[in-house]
Amino acid sequence: MPELPEVEVIRRGLHNHLPGCKVLGIVAGNKKLRLPMPRKYLKNHIQGARIKSVDRRAKFLLIAMDNGASLIVHLGMTGRLGLFPTGTPRTKHDHLRLLLDNNMQLRFNDSRRFGFIQVLAPGRNFMNTMLANLGPEPLGIDFTPEYLQSRAVGKNRPLKNFLMDSREIAGIGNIYACEILFHAGINPAKKICRLTMKEWTRVVASSKHVLQQAIESGGTTISDFVNESGKSGYFQLKLQAYGKQGKPCNCCSTLIAQKTMAGRSTFFCPKCQK
Ligand SMILES: [Zn+2]
Repeated sequence: MPELPEVEVIRRGLHNHLPGCKVLGIVAGNKKLRLPMPRKYLKNHIQGARIKSVDRRAKFLLIAMDNGASLIVHLGMTGRLGLFPTGTPRTKHDHLRLLLDNNMQLRFNDSRRFGFIQVLAPGRNFMNTMLANLGPEPLGIDFTPEYLQSRAVGKNRPLKNFLMDSREIAGIGNIYACEILFHAGINPAKKICRLTMKEWTRVVASSKHVLQQAIESGGTTISDFVNESGKSGYFQLKLQAYGKQGKPCNCCSTLIAQKTMAGRSTFFCPKCQK
């Protein structure tokens, strides 16, 4: 499943190629995605418009058009968004193709169909969409120890569940929540009302560090976006805790432990993470 760093690498790749391109035509498939394909909106607001920018909010890709509309793409579990030269044979799970005026096509492919495409009509604001209730971006300037502490007052929730709550912080999934807390040296089950300012400072620094490292390693993995887009798999940071149960911790050699929190597998070092 693509996590925030992967979506950000895809965004950067697309942003190098898409702005300025005009959408000449749209071919949308009939298969049902997580949400129905917005055919009418695609035709009315995306076809004929020129792409202005490619942005990201949490794990949503936002392709802004010069007419004020935006294409929202969520990759779900297996979604891919790639640029292909016109004439590249279609593959089985291509659900949407935007035919561009530079002899390229932007294709959305998704074998398990948990992803989706939405269109925000011109003048519509993100406040009216599923993006309305997202917390700050972990790589943004408003993700601070002060913000986190203010959200934690009087709350008994375990830290990991809090980190993964998109209303509090946008886009941190299970893998990166485990890796961030390993890096910060804090136990995932620690109650958030008991964290000190010093610990919140470590949570913020580790979040930015771990996500940034992953983005950079993905950037080198996917060096040429256009050529790689057809075949590149998802990448992952070299993991220290996630999936390492029973293996020695890289810091202290204690065996990494596993437990379930809020229905998700959680991995941590019982000695390093207090
Ligand atoms: Zn350890």
